[in-house]
Amino acid sequence: MKYSKLVEVYEYLEKTSARLKKTKAMANLLKETPADLLPKVALLLQGRIFPSWDEREIGIANLLMVKIISTATGFSQKDIAARFSKTGDFGLVIEELVSRKRQRTLFQKELTVEKVFENLQKLASITGSGSQERKFHLVSELISSAKPKEAKYIVRTTLGDLRIGVAAGVIRDAIAMAFLGRGKELKEMKEEVRVLEWAWFLRPDYGEIARIAKEKGLPGLKKVRLEVGKPYHVLLAEKSPGLKEALEEFEHPIMEYKYDGARIVIHKKGSRLWFYTRRLENVTRQFPELRDFVMRAVKARECIIEGEMLGFNKETGKPMPFQFLSQRIKRKYDIEKMEKEIPIQVNLFDITYLNGKELFDMPLSERRKLLEKIIKPIPGKFLLAKSLVTKDLKKAERFYREALEASQEGLIVKNLDAKYQPGRRVAGGWLKVKPVMETLDLVITGATWGTGKRAGWFGSFILGCRDPDSGRFLECGMIGTGIKEKEEAGGVTFRELTRLLKPNIMEEHGSRIVLKPDVVVEVAYEEIQKSPNYSSGFALRFPRVLKIRPDKALSEVDTKERIERLFRMQKGKR
Ligand code: AMP
Repeated sequence: MKYSKLVEVYEYLEKTSARLKKTKAMANLLKETPADLLPKVALLLQGRIFPSWDEREIGIANLLMVKIISTATGFSQKDIAARFSKTGDFGLVIEELVSRKRQRTLFQKELTVEKVFENLQKLASITGSGSQERKFHLVSELISSAKPKEAKYIVRTTLGDLRIGVAAGVIRDAIAMAFLGRGKELKEMKEEVRVLEWAWFLRPDYGEIARIAKEKGLPGLKKVRLEVGKPYHVLLAEKSPGLKEALEEFEHPIMEYKYDGARIVIHKKGSRLWFYTRRLENVTRQFPELRDFVMRAVKARECIIEGEMLGFNKETGKPMPFQFLSQRIKRKYDIEKMEKEIPIQVNLFDITYLNGKELFDMPLSERRKLLEKIIKPIPGKFLLAKSLVTKDLKKAERFYREALEASQEGLIVKNLDAKYQPGRRVAGGWLKVKPVMETLDLVITGATWGTGKRAGWFGSFILGCRDPDSGRFLECGMIGTGIKEKEEAGGVTFRELTRLLKPNIMEEHGSRIVLKPDVVVEVAYEEIQKSPNYSSGFALRFPRVLKIRPDKALSEVDTKERIERLFRMQKGKR
């Protein structure tokens, strides 16, 4: 398949904002794609080379990209850097330069989707000495045969920033339209979309899902099952207004500590193990000691169990703030050193698979019994989450205080009669009870350079909420509070935020900086107000940063709709 065909669709998607039109354009392309190429095209449409849970990444830094573009086009590195600082988009830079250069050299080989995909995938496998050189060669080879628009998208895909404003749900709908609709309108396809979504929760790879949809249709998608070793989208918790309300919600509640760590999903098949985070990152190699824990403590041949992993301070024996553990999650080298510095503890709370059987439909009460049966706890290291079954508010409050005193976040109240629903924050599912209510998870989309004591750092930050329709982020306030000037264990500092955000600079206008949305923060505030000054139409009053949330994906950033709902609720209270 010609790459130019894909590029035509990219261009259309970039220019069109109507969701339905985007969906149709994608559906048409998917329909024309041969089955064996579908996984690749579905990934490329999302600007990806690997499914989100795959460990591999392309790893080309901006600096190398400047060199590549310079060599491929003959323009100086300085010129390219200057053009980039104007647009913040290497895609536009290369498009312009290639179109100028082509007037002189007309030689061209037609690029195929297969070739582009192959070269980009190879990039990820290159490591070690001379790797820059080889990466350089692979990208240059593509660019030298590319037409201007093709070069634009090759470069954007390489950098992992396609900028065509397509939300995750659009590709799902496009697959439905292409293979399950038989000419039906999308709005008549609720059932098909539901089945697709379910299949995707269990097999988070639209490439594979598209192929199943094309070859086996709805019945094939319904047969998608959990597979040991492959990640799935886990059940999520809803916020509750308070402990009393949460207790009243269920006939048979169980309360558990809400540990302040990272979700860990452990897959075991004999002696083969895989560990995934809730963002579906594969962290098996990062936690060698967990392998020992599981082999010692789990008495089952095949299973998938879930828990919360905490980092511990080995001197004080106290849990460490999540930021420390997140260093281990991201770490690809010096793993043994990290293992000694930040020991872990896992608190288990669920089981979704046991010896060939998926357990989603089993009520929590029975799942919990099975979990208890197959775990032989290792004190201090590999345990069952602390829990209490009661409807008595006094006892529940005591348990809540105990959790907070143990430096944990609060409680999760669960319904013992409920099934496990992957990928969802479901009504009647899990309710989280935390002292600071109704915080928002927002992404930082901009910043300003600080002055005075904050000179050299970013001093204030623009917050963005998510618009699920366009996949873009809308501004909803400025924040500078809750961030510390001095390093203090656990707190968020200007230094840390600046370090995290600097690589994301896209544009600078004086002291004002536009950032690529990437860093998610949990924000508390006093009030939500309507505001014409921000593109979401809302502003947070007195916002303060509680935490950086590296565990949250951009797709988990709170939406404009949620802010609107909270705004209405707050009005109702007054
Ligand atoms: P939140 O990140 O605020 O949406 O809260 C949900 C997260 O709490 C889950 O993804 C888990 O990582 C974490 N968590 C901590 N303790 C528990 C528990 N006992 N049961 C379920 N989730 C828990």
